[in-house]
Amino acid sequence: MSSSRIDSIRAAEAKIFRKARPKSEAAVGKGVKGFFGGVPMHWMNDWPTPFPILVEKAKGATITDVDGNKLADFCLGDTGSMFGHSPAPVAKAIRRQSRRGLTYMLPSEDALVLGKLLSERFGLPHWQIATTATDANRFALRVARAVTNRPKILVFNGCYHGSVDETFVRLDNGKPANKPGLTGEFRDLTQGTKIVEFNDLPALEAALADQDVACVITEPVLTNCCMVLPEPGFLEGLRKATRATGTLLLIDETHTISTGPGGYTQRYGLEPDLFVLGKPVAGGVPASVWGISDELAARYEAYNRSKQPGYSGMGTTLSANPLQFAAMRAALEEVMTEENYAHMEKLAGRLAAGLEAAIAKHKLPWHVRRVGARVEFICAPGPLKNGSEADAAHASELEAAIHVALVNRGILIAPFHNMMLISPATTKAQVDRLISAFGDIAAQLTA
Ligand code: PMP
Repeated sequence: MSSSRIDSIRAAEAKIFRKARPKSEAAVGKGVKGFFGGVPMHWMNDWPTPFPILVEKAKGATITDVDGNKLADFCLGDTGSMFGHSPAPVAKAIRRQSRRGLTYMLPSEDALVLGKLLSERFGLPHWQIATTATDANRFALRVARAVTNRPKILVFNGCYHGSVDETFVRLDNGKPANKPGLTGEFRDLTQGTKIVEFNDLPALEAALADQDVACVITEPVLTNCCMVLPEPGFLEGLRKATRATGTLLLIDETHTISTGPGGYTQRYGLEPDLFVLGKPVAGGVPASVWGISDELAARYEAYNRSKQPGYSGMGTTLSANPLQFAAMRAALEEVMTEENYAHMEKLAGRLAAGLEAAIAKHKLPWHVRRVGARVEFICAPGPLKNGSEADAAHASELEAAIHVALVNRGILIAPFHNMMLISPATTKAQVDRLISAFGDIAAQLTA
């Protein structure tokens, strides 16, 4: 696809976007005063639209902007709202808790129920609450290093686990290096982090053979570099290789919770030592959880008995507050249900099939991947095997043009890549609108 064609589509779509949003443009088009870079968080400048959409409200799977435009929301806060915006049981729990105090560094009665819910749901018996998936990963990795007394961790090329410093390593022509673009990073992160390609068992086994890796941290499906599925036997091999070398395994389910109520772990019988889930676990209220196995808990207790007294370097003041307990309990009991997942699964299947049909009809060399309620279209042939292939598959300019064109057709998908989420509130009509908009854009691109 020629870059001039992509540029002209993007320019035309930008014009349409502006015309439909005079109020948004007046309010945020030149940046919002008082904020560095004109936005409250710099990621908001990363949308491919000419300026960020100023939101009036979001409910279910629909966002309404201040100009009255309604968008079918398939981004869903990049997973924070993957069960819909303000799900009724969560909103009710928040209202109830708001009359009883928002944070007090003590448990509430909801916490008594929550420990049991987490253990039953995710199969690990010992839990802690944090506020972001980033924090949960950081704390879990600290425990892994503590109990193994090993300095290193291992990540897969193309991974993302939040702003966890030691995971910001990538393979650059096969050589480990700091990820480019890191602000203020003066350390050589490759000193503490090993990195191999996903789906490469021999490389993994070689990297673990030195027995200096405390923990492998991974998503069961790489969802942050397009979408890379594990090849048959890879996750089994990973568990085998970690066990054989005394290495712990941390499964980060923050995105793959799209698979089902117990995540990919429960669906496919993974047996992690550590488990992390953030973002949607409290229905949009900032909260995350990390759990550990019985065996690891015993080792951690022994470690704590043996270590010097002093601050652990873990925990944050607002974590494990009663608002989180209330929202998480409501999300787990009433929102993350089998019934809701069945709806999500069905519509996600419909979406993936619809996009595949449009790709075939327009003879585009693209493909579609799906893990439960999370669907991704990739503007390159597939399937992708690892992070390097995913990197090469990225077509930033083309994807940006598609994203803005989708917004102009009433559809919002995640920025950075082509991720679409189905929530319990998403309707068949919204899915069909996305399929038809995608087909329309594919026709324009290939005309
Ligand atoms: N783990 C995974 C797999 C993620 O995709 C993300 C965010 N995209 C995180 C952790 C970090 O989440 P947060 O930004 O809420 O800390």
